[in-house]
Amino acid sequence: MKPSIYSLSRTDLTDWVLAQDEKKFRATQIWEWLYRKRVQTFDEMTNLSKDLIAKLNDHFVVNPLKQRVVQESKDGTVKYLFELPDGMLIETVLMRQHYGLSVCVTTQVGCNIGCTFCASGLIRKQRDLNSGEIMAQIMLVQKYFDDRNQGERVSHIVVMGIGEPFDNYDNVLNFLRIVNDDKGMAIGARHITVSTSGLAPKIREFAREGVQVNLAVSLHAPNNDIRSSIMRINRKFPIEVLFEAIEDYIDTTNRRVTFEYIMLNEVNDGVEQAQELADLTKNIRKLSYVNLIPYNPVSEHDQYSRSTPERVAAFYDRLKKNGVNCVVRQEHGTDIDAACGQLRSNTMKKDRESARARIAAAKAKAGIKA
Ligand code: SAH
Ligand code: SF4
Repeated sequence: MKPSIYSLSRTDLTDWVLAQDEKKFRATQIWEWLYRKRVQTFDEMTNLSKDLIAKLNDHFVVNPLKQRVVQESKDGTVKYLFELPDGMLIETVLMRQHYGLSVCVTTQVGCNIGCTFCASGLIRKQRDLNSGEIMAQIMLVQKYFDDRNQGERVSHIVVMGIGEPFDNYDNVLNFLRIVNDDKGMAIGARHITVSTSGLAPKIREFAREGVQVNLAVSLHAPNNDIRSSIMRINRKFPIEVLFEAIEDYIDTTNRRVTFEYIMLNEVNDGVEQAQELADLTKNIRKLSYVNLIPYNPVSEHDQYSRSTPERVAAFYDRLKKNGVNCVVRQEHGTDIDAACGQLRSNTMKKDRESARARIAAAKAKAGIKA
């Protein structure tokens, strides 16, 4: 299978062009076709020689993804189901925010972290996405808007789709550098957020990459008892270890960290837990934010339900009283399988059901009893 040209950084592309005995400026031209004019085939790159176009076609594909399903919500959220070259399915979500268009990208097929509230964690990781496949999600969402000719640009990225980005570290970092390239899509690092379930050593490594990308940590509980019971990863990197890494990140980068906190009714949403959370983040008060996230019900995880508005309000008030910077996050696309991993798992369910129906029909036709 040929790799996607989207997995090459501008330096990689320049090296490849030089290796083909072509002039360096050809790399700039290709890069502009890909990210400024955003063509979907090499044949459209009309200022290149036929020979170079043939070489590009021999070595690469442009976009490795196929669009399977698109759902558009009343609030402008668009959910895409893409098929990878090996037939696996991934999800990408576009959210319309007051500050621009934000894309939520997927980094793995499934996820091995297995958090007990998450639809993605239901399916063990099948494989990592390479950086071209991550970049291709951005390019297809941008194409969706280019085709409408309203000049709208993807301006923000959240690496919060299916998968644990720090379990696919090199591909994610390469993707971040490509999408941030100022001669390409030029999405500003400060407009990009990577979310991790808390792989402490990777947080330390990320602090030293010299990228200005924002970091979000899925905390979801203020103590080891609750956190270990809902996030298995906490047994490996308990809160003390996680917070040492976060403090190291803040010291090294001088950047703020966002904590994500899903409100699970009667699990982690008591006033007592709000106080624990305030105490836990005391040392980094000015350099941290807390996002309180409404739980998106996942049918396979029916032990959880959404916190009541009263419990959310009491939790929020206690944080505020302690001077914690916090917001209750808005929901997007609740009418369209919005929870991370849901469109994928629902489509796979439908695919399985229709395959079963086809087999049953074929058996019936052949006179075989089911
Ligand atoms: N694996 C990374 C990034 C992908 S998950 C991480 O865990 O941070 C992105 C965010 O969605 C995380 O904060 C995750 O905890 C949250 N999430 C997962 N399942 C959810 C659900 N059912 N409802 C609301 N948020 C959920
Ligand atoms: Fe994986 Fe994140 Fe879901 Fe946990 S919340 S299972 S780390 S995708």
